Parts: sequence; C-alpha cells; structure tokens
Amino acid sequence: MAGSPQQLTLLGATGSIGTQTLAVLALHPARYRVYALTAGSQWQALAAQCETWQPRYAVLADAQAALSLRNHLQALGSQTEVLAGEAALAQVAAADEVDTVVAAIVGAAGVRPTLAAVRAGKRVLLANKEALVVTGQLFMDAVTASGASLLPVDSEHNAIFQCLPACTPGQNARLAGVRKLLLTASGGPFRTFTAEQLATVTPEQAVRHPNWNMGPKISVDSATLMNKGLELIEACWLFSVPPSLIDVVVHPQSVLHSMVEYDDGSVLAQLGTPDMKTPIACALSWPERIDSGARRLDFTRLAGLDFEAPDETRFPCLRLAREAMQAGGTATAVLNAANEVAVAAFLDRRLDFPGIPVVVAETLARVAAPACTDVDAVMAVDAAARRVATAQLAART
Ligand code: NDP
Repeated sequence: MAGSPQQLTLLGATGSIGTQTLAVLALHPARYRVYALTAGSQWQALAAQCETWQPRYAVLADAQAALSLRNHLQALGSQTEVLAGEAALAQVAAADEVDTVVAAIVGAAGVRPTLAAVRAGKRVLLANKEALVVTGQLFMDAVTASGASLLPVDSEHNAIFQCLPACTPGQNARLAGVRKLLLTASGGPFRTFTAEQLATVTPEQAVRHPNWNMGPKISVDSATLMNKGLELIEACWLFSVPPSLIDVVVHPQSVLHSMVEYDDGSVLAQLGTPDMKTPIACALSWPERIDSGARRLDFTRLAGLDFEAPDETRFPCLRLAREAMQAGGTATAVLNAANEVAVAAFLDRRLDFPGIPVVVAETLARVAAPACTDVDAVMAVDAAARRVATAQLAART
C-alpha cells in the first residue's frame, strides 16, 4: 500500500477484540499508526499497551484509573497524554487526525463514542453491536448524513458483507437480489443441555465458549443466544432488511460464518477458522486484503459441518430480540439494557441462567419504548429499562 499510514483510534483496546486488533496491527507496522487507545478502568493493561504502541492519547472512562495511568506513564517519561471520561472517548474517536475507529467497547457504554466517530465521517469498524442495537435508525441516519464508512467486524456480518459484493452497509440487501440472510450460530456451550441442566449452569461454564475466545458479556450472550438476537437486529440495520428476511442456523463448528441466499437459488458463504483476527483484518484493509495471522482452514482436517434449527424454547432470547425488532421504537434499546443488567447479575451469581430471559421479557413488557429522535432520549429509555430490570432482580431474591 502506498501513501502515509492510517491513523487509528481503538475504543476498547484492552478487551478481546481490542487485543486481537493490536495483534493484526503488529503484523503491518508501515500501514497503521495508533493515535489513541481507550479502556474502561483497567489502567495497568492500557499502560502496557501504551508502552508498546506509544499512542498520542490514552483514554479511560474511569477518572481514578486515568489518574493512576497518568502517574505511571509520567514516571516512565512517556509522551502519551492521558484523558478521562466519556467526552474524551468521543473526542479521540472524532479527532481530525484519525482515519479509522475500531469500535470495540462492550455494551451501551459504546453508544456515544461510536456515534462520535460516525458523525465525524470516519471509517468505523463496528464490533460494538450494542451501539447499533440501542440507537438503530439514529445510527444509520448519522452514517448517511456524515458519509462515514461502516465496516462490520462481527464475524457473521463481516461474512455477509463479503458475500454481498454489490451492497455496502446502509444499502438495502434486497436490491442486490437477496432472498435471505442466513446468520450462523455456534449454539454456545449449552447447545445440548436440557432445561433442567440449564437451571444449574455457572458463570464459569458460560464463559468457556467451545470455539471462540471472547469477553465475558458476549460469552454469556452466546450461551443464551441473545448474541444471535442482537446480531439479527444488527443485520437488519446494516443491510436494511426486515427480521423476516433473516434466518438463524445453528452450526456448531463455527467454520462457516454466515450465508446469503439469492433469488436464483445461489447461496454464498464465507468460511474460515473461528478466529476474530480474520474479520478484523478484512475490515481494516477492505477492499484490499492483508495477513491476519489467523490459523488457516485445512479442509482435509474438517470432520464435518453440521447444521440445525435453533431451539427458541430452551433459548427464548433469540425470539425476544426478533420481537423487539419487529415492535420498533426503542424496544431494542430496552431489550439490550435489560440484558446487560441480567447478564451482569448472572456473572455476579445474583441471577440464575434461566432468569436472564425472564428479566428481559418482563422489562420489555413494563417499559414504554417510544421512537426517539435524539440520543439523549434513547439513553433515557435505556436508563428506565435498567431501573426496571434492577428492581426485578431485587424482587427475585
Ligand atoms: P471485552 O469485555 O473483552 O472488552 C471490552 C472493552 O470495553 C475493554 O477494553 C473495556 O475496558 C472497555 N469498556 C468496558 N466498559 C467501558 C466503559 N464504560 N467505557 C469505556 N470502555 C469500556 O469485550 P469484547 O472485546 O469481547 O467485545 C467488545 C464488543 O465487540 C462487544 O460489543 C461484543 O459484542 C463485540 N464482539 C466481540 C467479539 C469477540 O470475539 N470478543 C466478536 C464479535 C463482536 P476495561 O478492560 O478497562 O474493562
């Protein structure tokens, strides 16, 4: 690649996607420069990354953690400037010097920084699906208004993106002759568990995903199939299709990362080893291709590829997500907020695994979800949903 290196802000640098993004960047030192690295509160992990990458800025959401990082880096004589808080996250996402923003904060905490990058017209590599699930139409309108490039990092959406050569995010997939989007799901660690077994599973079991190495929240989402529900919503927005055009297919090996069925009967799929470095590298370099460092797929070693329908009785979160998308307004923001509260409670052993969809369903039933025209109003709905979900946790104990 000719020209000067791309300047990059990495939101959520210390997480699973963040560290894997840095692993890909390390293979291409001439191509990318890190402008800013950000995290929530893990300042020691961010400090180690700053020592390696020497970014212009390091940002922590947590002010106390930022103070510790600043003292630490000053003692080392580092040139990295340390900032704190949500406004600073938005600032480094929207800075003029930045070409590309990797949006990899977990949860609705990523809404404002990711939107700041979109509004500034950046090339946005979207891992933080919750930002799109929460703000939906507002998010896509901001993409259109600013001319930002939106590139999906989620492996399923990245696969669909690669199978839709005539369609970029924001354009209607139907216009390209698409009959169906087929989202694959691993089924998670409890795919074969009975309802009785699901009642006793622990957080340790839930975060041990059979194929992917991910952060704790998405690992639990994967176990409940809420992750697939959030992805269904994400796909509706990215490819401008209704939920009825999206089928979920359970594929336990996670080798085939999603498919597109066309009107003529052709089905295109993208395959690879289950390694997020592949979609990260694809999104970073698109439309060029770069080495990701991911293990290569060896067809001669594949024992087989299996497919089955998802079981929405044992895993009702997928149905709840589809219904929230169909309901419209801010129902998907309510769904997401309730799920974040429930998953945190499960990880904290304050809620059992089957309680997660119960809290989500009851919150959806109780919280008004009007259509909103600005982010503050959406975040007020998010806050109301969190209060209702939290009250239900208290009522269950
Ligand atoms: P992790 O939990 O591993 O990392 C989350 C990152 O967000 C960390 O850097 C964390 O900082 C930061 N963070 C947490 N809270 C805040 C906050 N309030 N303000 C600012 N930053 C915060 O998550 P993952 O990397 O697994 O997932 C990130 C996103 O990517 C999620 O939306 C997930 O759904 C999506 N995704 C992840 C995949 C994966 O394989 N992991 C695959 C596809 C999508 P700190 O370390 O300080 O807490």
